[in-house]
Amino acid sequence: MILGLGIPELLIILIVILVIFGPKNLPKIGSALGKTVKNVREGMEEGSEDKSESPVESHDEPVEVIEDEDDADAPETKFCSKCGTKNSADAGFCSKCGTKLD
Ligand SMILES: [Zn+2]
Repeated sequence: MILGLGIPELLIILIVILVIFGPKNLPKIGSALGKTVKNVREGMEEGSEDKSESPVESHDEPVEVIEDEDDADAPETKFCSKCGTKNSADAGFCSKCGTKLD
């Protein structure tokens, strides 16, 4: 047993890690764990085995998508003068009350 834990406990810990960090970060956690294990092993072996370190490149970095959702000053909307409903700028009439938009 590792640290007195059984397989079910290890599975629960794994699931908790998954829930906390999300599946997207698993490669990062995996590489971090891999590095730790490697360092420990290298420390134990005291450089008897000198394998060249392969660079860890993360190709799975999630690209941050900046969503532009400020329609406060969006020019393609206009408000109905009668009921205040927001209509698209190319709409001729209010979608709610039918008032002609100018
Ligand atoms: Zn209206």
